[in-house]
Amino acid sequence: MDVFQGNSAVELLAKLKEAERIVLTGHRSPDGDAVGSCLALWNHLKENGVDSIVVLPDEYPDFISWMNGHEDIVLHSKNPDKANSLVENADVVFILDYNDASRVGELQQSLENTSAFTVMVDHHQQPTEFVDLMFSDEKSCSTAEMVYRLIERWGEADDISAHTAACLYCGIMTDSGSFRFPSVTPRTHKIAAALCETGIDHSSIHAKVYDNNREGQLKLVGFAITEKLQVFPEFKAAIISLSLDELERFGYEKGDTEGLVNTALSVEGVNFAAFVKESEDKVKLSFRSVGEFSVRDFSASHFGGGGHHNAAGGASDLALQEVVDKIINLLPKYSEKLDYKAP
Ligand code: 5GP
Ligand code: MN
Repeated sequence: MDVFQGNSAVELLAKLKEAERIVLTGHRSPDGDAVGSCLALWNHLKENGVDSIVVLPDEYPDFISWMNGHEDIVLHSKNPDKANSLVENADVVFILDYNDASRVGELQQSLENTSAFTVMVDHHQQPTEFVDLMFSDEKSCSTAEMVYRLIERWGEADDISAHTAACLYCGIMTDSGSFRFPSVTPRTHKIAAALCETGIDHSSIHAKVYDNNREGQLKLVGFAITEKLQVFPEFKAAIISLSLDELERFGYEKGDTEGLVNTALSVEGVNFAAFVKESEDKVKLSFRSVGEFSVRDFSASHFGGGGHHNAAGGASDLALQEVVDKIINLLPKYSEKLDYKAP
């Protein structure tokens, strides 16, 4: 069933036209889909005479710092008082590309305290019911695809500008692995086609996102693959871990290790990949799988994380090596599910 079918999507539009303070939020460590969804809605509303403001918990990577309106984003990490006050005093708050208040880090309290009408548009599994209006579709490849469908439900798909389209395209492209994941449907391609009709340059969007590596970043990736990739053929698993020390040696910047977990997954025969990264305060985990092994369940059970069946994340307070050992020691327990063979 289409989550936008009922009247609530249309009633929401009327509410937005009356609202004075609309805030659009995305998750911590915002990615292409979070930023793309927020800025797409920001651009589209603005072009239709509705002002809003994007508030994000912290910095987003350079490779998505080109979408129209990104200079106007308020970051909690840079401007906490302003960010909190915007969320707390809003009339309407959008929850885009996340489904639990804990995903916005330091913004969580403001989000929980706000008296605003809250609207979730999201595609992650098992949403927490903390909003007034929920559009949750775990089958969708991206939140950006859902934002398109929301705009379409408003009868405004034909008015989508190239600015809005570029944000949506970026969100769909980055979350779908450039249109390769199983979550991509014929409908996704039709939406992408409609976005291309607005005159966006899809090839240059791809280049901005993926052909934008710094030398140190590429060398870090090379180091991670050459020196840090561990493959466990008996469990069809692969792990890459990087310490703070190693990251700093290559001048690490946020976003530099994006995709490394997919590289580990691309090893022939591997059905489960983990990327384990040390940071100042915790160890961050990224998991990917092929087939029936649910990394969402794995992350939820052992690392308090979540996400999707085949792509999930989490965090740990253990030391880096302890986290790696914990994952390795868990592999035998899941050997049956990891033994999946693609049809
Ligand atoms: P990534 O590995 O790209 O950081 O995240 C993969 C997926 O897992 C994303 O859909 C993301 O929203 C989710 N995810 C990543 N980290 C966490 C986490 O700490 N907690 C939860 N619940 N989900 C996460
Ligand atoms: Mn997403």
